[in-house]
Amino acid sequence: MQNIFLSDCDKPKEECGVIGIYEKNNINTAVLAYYGLIALQHRGQESAGLAVKNDGIITCYKEMGLVSEVFDSQILNLLKGDSCIGHVRYSTTGESFVTNAQPLVVKYKNGTIALAHNGNLVNAHSVRREMEEQGMIFSTSIDSEIIAMLIAKNYRDDIADAIVKTMDVIKGAYALTIMTNDELIGVRDKHGLRPLVLGRLEKGYVLASETCALDTMGAEFIRDVKPGEIVIINEEGIRSVQTNAEEKSSCIFEYIYFARPDSVIDGISVYTSREIAGRILAKEQPAEADVVICVPDSGTPSAIGYAKESGIPYAIGLIKNKYIGRTFIQPSQEVRETGVTLKLNPLKEAIQGKRIVIVDDSIVRGTTSKKIVQALRDAGAKEVHVRVSSPVVTHPCYFGINTQRQGELVGASTLIERIKEKIGADSLGYLSYEGLLESVGSTGKGYCAACFNGNYPVVISEECDKHMFERR
Ligand code: SF4
Repeated sequence: MQNIFLSDCDKPKEECGVIGIYEKNNINTAVLAYYGLIALQHRGQESAGLAVKNDGIITCYKEMGLVSEVFDSQILNLLKGDSCIGHVRYSTTGESFVTNAQPLVVKYKNGTIALAHNGNLVNAHSVRREMEEQGMIFSTSIDSEIIAMLIAKNYRDDIADAIVKTMDVIKGAYALTIMTNDELIGVRDKHGLRPLVLGRLEKGYVLASETCALDTMGAEFIRDVKPGEIVIINEEGIRSVQTNAEEKSSCIFEYIYFARPDSVIDGISVYTSREIAGRILAKEQPAEADVVICVPDSGTPSAIGYAKESGIPYAIGLIKNKYIGRTFIQPSQEVRETGVTLKLNPLKEAIQGKRIVIVDDSIVRGTTSKKIVQALRDAGAKEVHVRVSSPVVTHPCYFGINTQRQGELVGASTLIERIKEKIGADSLGYLSYEGLLESVGSTGKGYCAACFNGNYPVVISEECDKHMFERR
């Protein structure tokens, strides 16, 4: 029986995860943030970092690796402070090395700012060039430094003013946690492309990319940060500054693949939306089959939904090795192409002699699907019907998700019938665009779905490129 080796180049890569804690009289906020970052680990596995504030002094520690590899109790013990921000990174702008890890710490004439960023700016190149022409010097190749430097440059007496001015300049996706010498701040971009939530601790507040981090830290969910909103937390409590938001366009792919199923984003449960997508998929793309299986883990709720709706029993058909560690974190193309892989093993007992429906959340290049179909056949499957709980991916993302270039997206240039042949399936069916919108309760507004329809909420210029600052 053949094992399946899932090369990571066949899925869009998660973006980054951010966290921020402000809790009076708790000098161990870093320990709490450590657990929050572990809950957000799925959003970035290349590097992790924490910046803490103690008596107005900001200290930062960051390294390459998973959260559990970067921090141990000795390091956390040194990071004392009643506020902190944290970050897990997958690189979308700039190379994957420690200088580009976050939080970033920027000193300016009146103090220090630490910043953690999830997202991607689409006008970073032109803004940075202008700043360099004014004599500003950058020490990283990431767009997040532009945000930190702009805030520092604009900061006079009120951090909110400085951030508002910065938001007027930068374009694209950003969910930020920022720490000054006396405040914690959360910012969500004007379209709300990336998620950010606010929670309550016994004596303080938490900001995090996803609600699963609040649950892990024992924080109570208060609300999502609104598109274009700045939330400022200090000794006096919480203050909200609402800038002129654009039409809300939060990333619909968070529900399909990126976010953890136990998170709730903008009031919609990720798990429920995936299960509904599976149910709609079963109605739109039925199949005569004996068993429904999933590609773990993000395909699981949709496979369950498909099974419930179709009446075909659900079974576990592929076993995933969850203990991959650092061999799986480098994102460069060379490393991907050497086939450093995540192993999925078919469960022969569930597959042999059966007509299989296999539900995956998305197909990007199609290379993994082909391997999975072949492995299921090798394990004795009589028929393999591939069902995808999202529409055909036709366009790349510029907002903090590392999808392939358009030419590498199998759906950008290939008809579904041809993709079916390419992956060797007996049949192939995708969720419709309308079905996807229905799964998140939308009638067409409120979401970015540009990777399916090419309608980007922000104008994309030619300058958008992950390595834009390294090539110059
Ligand atoms: S282009 Fe796709 S992945 Fe990127 S923000 Fe929009 S929906 Fe999300």
